[in-house]
Amino acid sequence: MKKNLINIDKDYSDTIYDRINSSGKDRVAPTILIVDDEKLMRESVQELLSAYDFNCVLAEDGQNAFEIMDEMVVDIILLDLIMPNVDGFEVMQAVHERYPTIDIIVASGEATFDNATLAMRYGVKDFLNKPYNPANLIKVVNNLLEKRQLKRDLSEMQSCIQASEKRYSFFTNNSPDMIYMLDRDGVFAFVNDRATELLGYSQDEFIGHHYAEFIHQDDLEKANFAFGVSAANIGIKQTIDFRMLAKHPSVDPCYFESRSISIKLEAAELPEKDSGDGFVGIYGVARDITEKKRLDEKINFHLYHDALTELPNRVLFSDRINFAISQASRNNSKIAIMLLDMDRFKVINDSLGHIAGDKLLQEISRRLTSCISQGDTLARVGGDEFNLMLPDINSEKEVLERVSNITNALESAFMIEGHEVYVTFSIGTAIYPQDADSGESLIKYADMAMYHIKGKGKNGHNFYSDLNDTSFQHHLSMENGIRTALQEDQFEVYFQPQYDVKVEKINGVEALIRWNHPEKGLITPNDFIPLAEETGLINDIGEWMLNTSCQILEQWVKSNPALSSIKLAVNMSASQIAKDCFVDFVLSTLDKYNIKGEQLELEITENVLVQDMEMVVSKLKHLAGHGICFAVDDFGMGYSSLSYLQTLPLNNLKIDRAFIATIQSPGDKNTIITAIVAMAKELGMHIVAEGVETQVQLDYVKSIGCPTVQGYWYGRPMPTSELEAIAIEQLA
Ligand code: C2E
Ligand code: CA
Ligand code: CA
Repeated sequence: MKKNLINIDKDYSDTIYDRINSSGKDRVAPTILIVDDEKLMRESVQELLSAYDFNCVLAEDGQNAFEIMDEMVVDIILLDLIMPNVDGFEVMQAVHERYPTIDIIVASGEATFDNATLAMRYGVKDFLNKPYNPANLIKVVNNLLEKRQLKRDLSEMQSCIQASEKRYSFFTNNSPDMIYMLDRDGVFAFVNDRATELLGYSQDEFIGHHYAEFIHQDDLEKANFAFGVSAANIGIKQTIDFRMLAKHPSVDPCYFESRSISIKLEAAELPEKDSGDGFVGIYGVARDITEKKRLDEKINFHLYHDALTELPNRVLFSDRINFAISQASRNNSKIAIMLLDMDRFKVINDSLGHIAGDKLLQEISRRLTSCISQGDTLARVGGDEFNLMLPDINSEKEVLERVSNITNALESAFMIEGHEVYVTFSIGTAIYPQDADSGESLIKYADMAMYHIKGKGKNGHNFYSDLNDTSFQHHLSMENGIRTALQEDQFEVYFQPQYDVKVEKINGVEALIRWNHPEKGLITPNDFIPLAEETGLINDIGEWMLNTSCQILEQWVKSNPALSSIKLAVNMSASQIAKDCFVDFVLSTLDKYNIKGEQLELEITENVLVQDMEMVVSKLKHLAGHGICFAVDDFGMGYSSLSYLQTLPLNNLKIDRAFIATIQSPGDKNTIITAIVAMAKELGMHIVAEGVETQVQLDYVKSIGCPTVQGYWYGRPMPTSELEAIAIEQLA
């Protein structure tokens, strides 16, 4: 009979059990505690349940059941009600209080209504009448197991959801990005903690407010457009960047790069009454790209500006020209492109050092900036080279006025690290449209005009239209020409005599360079010395000059010792003096040609004074210690104060021939000359008058007590043999 019972409904219960097992990954078979005081009953039920792979544990009464429950995990109790000692009701009560995970099925012969009610009150899950139908028993057990499984699954699911929610809120709130949700009206429905951190608003200040309140005015249109596209095109991702306003007005707006996508409810999720498209809002992630933007801005600035002066650079300048040209061609207006190149910057840079050079450039750019008006563009396009664009210029006269403003602004001394520095500029101007119609050509032509000024001795202004092409070409090829001249020995020393006016005899010569150009013939120094100074080639030229003229002097004296009374004057440029090896070079050259220090005079000009004075003083004093004399050349033409005359070991002042040229007829006087002579006497210095061409001028310089004269009156600069012949005739 038991067998019969067992076989009934096996298939049905198998399916249920399989289902339970399959969902409960490798779960061990449930343990069923059978509590019944009838042994036969206990064992027959055990046999039946074991056949279905349930674990069965048997208890003969309530007491025995408690002992078992304390020892092992029980899932279900199949409970008889009437038992000796501890009965089923006490078990129910204890389980209800102490073993809440255990479910009870009452199996009783006393299926009264009261019993059933009581049992239900204790949470009993089912009630079987004894003697029970085995199929029914299996069904009830399986039902209960299935319910238990469902309950377990549900609670697992709940904790999964809770964990996932926790994870989600951890991620959103700890995201480095701002995460937000806008509802369909563009009102914030959610923002993460990062948003509040970045912008300083509280959650409450965000939620319920429209995004427009937070977006920078200038970016609002862009944001409106992007969010509008999102709303209209569900599922399309939008990436834009915009600035959001921080709560605190002193904090700059933050740049965000925002990716957003609209959210749509699936049809199944739509409320019935909703007849719309299911659009519920926009979900977005916005990254703070403020740093990146600032960096971009910086990089951008440096791409288009000069780092030292922060003025526009060449790239930006040509951009501006092109823009100005397109406007001017429409308005039929003129543009002036001006190229300003500082004179002798190399000397300043080499002698005062790069830091001082940089400071000077910054000061210059400040003064130049003060001369420009709105709409003009001033750019620094090279070391000491500035470009200026004046759009809307009416006439050349207007350009000249601007040039004179610039020259005035630069006139007074720059105080750089305690030195008074005077600067001048060579300026060239080309005009659109008369000279050229492209930016590139205008700059090129302004450059040509500027170079022309350099060639003419610097410090001035030229229009491109004033250039005569051939003279200009000549200047362009000059620099390379000088290099070739040095290599191919095209230079020659000429000597101009200096006369002692009392005895009318030669007492000195000034060595003056000449360039025997293979095609252009004899080139005088005014045509290439300024350029040589600009390019630094003057150092090589200067070395060559001292070396060659000393060598010649040695030969003169060797063949005619009487010529040892002639003093050799050699011109020294400022950058030569600045060189570290200057003193050694001069001394070793004298040594090489057996020339005494007293036979050499070095002529320096006032631009030596833009240099580090301590350095100059110490070098000149060192050389003076070897008997070498110093003369100030072109005296009176410089700009600076005269205080240096006392600091430097100077012996001679050479009055510039421009002053002498003012003396034209007997009785003419020049107060500057009178002042210079008085001052020289005061300082114990000699005077040499340069450029004396006439008897009248000679008489005049004699009358003011000038002992030495150099000029065409006595002799022009001449080749060595000519000078030597004259000197021998007078001195030997
Ligand atoms: P500087 O040192 O003032 O030289 C005197 C210039 O005046 C010479 O011109 C000379 O020919 C000119 N001269 C002399 N007497 C008269 C005169 O009575 N009337 C007129 N009109 N001119 C007179 P030069 O030789 O053409 O030299 C021009 C300048 O070139 C020199 O002026 C000097 O600054 C520079 N120079 C020449 N040789 C050298 C050199 O070897 N090194 C450096 N650093 N500069 C040099
Ligand atoms: Ca000279
Ligand atoms: Ca001179």
